[in-house]
Amino acid sequence: MSAIEVKESCTGCSLCVKACPFAAIEVKEGKAKIGEACTLCTICVRMCPQHAITIERPVVPVERFAEYKGVWVVAESDEGSVKNVSFELLGKGRQLAKVLGEELSAVLIGNNIAGQVKPLGAYGAEKVYLVEHELLQHYTTDTYADVLSSMIARYKPSIVLFAATVNGRDLAPRVAARLRIGLTADCTGLEIDNEKRLVQIRPAFGGNIMASIISHSRPQMATVRPRVMKMCEPEETRSPRVERVQVDLNPLAVRAKVLERNRELSKASDRIEEARIIVSCGRGIGKQEDLKLVYALAEALGGAVGGSRPIVDCGWLPHQQQVGQSGKTVNPRLYLAAGISGSIQHRIGMQSSDFIIAINKDPEAPILGIANVGVVGDLFEILPKLTEQLRNLEGSRGRS
Ligand code: FAD
Ligand code: SF4
Ligand code: SF4
Repeated sequence: MSAIEVKESCTGCSLCVKACPFAAIEVKEGKAKIGEACTLCTICVRMCPQHAITIERPVVPVERFAEYKGVWVVAESDEGSVKNVSFELLGKGRQLAKVLGEELSAVLIGNNIAGQVKPLGAYGAEKVYLVEHELLQHYTTDTYADVLSSMIARYKPSIVLFAATVNGRDLAPRVAARLRIGLTADCTGLEIDNEKRLVQIRPAFGGNIMASIISHSRPQMATVRPRVMKMCEPEETRSPRVERVQVDLNPLAVRAKVLERNRELSKASDRIEEARIIVSCGRGIGKQEDLKLVYALAEALGGAVGGSRPIVDCGWLPHQQQVGQSGKTVNPRLYLAAGISGSIQHRIGMQSSDFIIAINKDPEAPILGIANVGVVGDLFEILPKLTEQLRNLEGSRGRS
């Protein structure tokens, strides 16, 4: 049993009473008393100036695993709409929930976001837990972790999926640490085994093996990068059930405030995550100044420029343009790899592209093994010719 205790050092100041979002504390005879409504969210622990509150949270024993039911996707929204990665996770969540015979739910946290519930239903959520509060307007680690960990403690889902975005990577480990449970980051596959456990597949040991990981805690939690899972077709007629989760957050408990948001807009040629066409280069390019050949072809194709890790490590491209295990996962219609050998760490980031063209002077290069079209040749001859032909084609279209 988990235990929350108030030590003798409590002075009865009532700060914790004001901070508790679940009205679970009262001060009686000069001491704080914690009631049944406590969800072990830990806010009061942080708030108490006397450090008088302690929480002991033992690991959920195996015999209580059956209490945990349902698949949750923690949805992310930005600028008034749900991010695509949440729909991708719902697609996978739906498959998992079907195998388990359990319900698929989305958790939507924010402020004035009720309008974003419907698309979650269209992409597969049978139920949406909607948490709205003005203090949840912008993502902050503490507040979101408080809300989510107390919801998990209360509703006991068996699987919780997070997007491996900047916020998801921040939130998921915080929640896992609060609940003392495991978390598998950057999964590339998720399956249910014959004991109804979540098998979390991800590259391990520098990407040289694919590990299948089983959690010995509940819920089983995983993060998945954008574009790793395929989005399913939305069914606009489907409406999810909505459960509004009331939280009474106290501004005193919010340690970080978002004062201003600044968006840095990068050039279209540098935004590989959204690009439908990517021209990527590797160590075969040889010199930084020859990157102009890659940019010229990307421009002629209307695509973005990516690169393998050595190119980024040399400082020739920024990290946000690196494709692969320690860079971005991309899923364009066309991925053209020039002078890239095709190591497993690179392939992990691009192998789900719809169509792959590889140019390499080594006929044994592994990238040629996964390419739809493999060209054995010198990129310094092929790239300029391709660019020229595309420009000529565009010019003749313009004239006709
Ligand atoms: P190389 O392997 O050196 O290949 C260069 C290729 O260019 C060769 O196949 C060669 O035949 C060809 N070539 C040379 N000249 C020409 C020419 N004139 N015309 C045509 N072809 C030519 N790598 C990533 O890319 N992304 C990652 O996110 C990533 N993460 C990693 C994480 C870890 C933990 C580790 C250990 C490694 C990671 N790596 C990553 C590095 C990875 O292992 C490889 O070292 C890297 O992908 C190799 O890059 P490359 O293909 O550009 O270079
Ligand atoms: Fe007691 Fe701490 Fe609560 Fe104040 S904040 S009443 S000292 S437990
Ligand atoms: Fe309230 Fe959270 Fe403290 Fe429990 S742990 S008493 S829910 S603030």
